[in-house]
Amino acid sequence: MQTCLQVHCNDFETIDHTTTVVILNILNLTMDLAISDEPVVCKNCSRSVKMAFDFKSTCLFTEELRYVVCS
Ligand SMILES: [Zn+2]
Repeated sequence: MQTCLQVHCNDFETIDHTTTVVILNILNLTMDLAISDEPVVCKNCSRSVKMAFDFKSTCLFTEELRYVVCS
């Protein structure tokens, strides 16, 4: 997953394809995970994606809660 284009970083982790597709869909992001047989992401980018996912999840939860409370 190329997000930062860092080429000298050795701190990578492999991507769980199924989970990453779900997260990218929720974040409305498009990335070509088929770019290699074993795609990886650097840990900084992985943390950024997780933070964005957590933020959006919180927003969606709050929106759903507001809908339930106000209806
Ligand atoms: Zn990165």
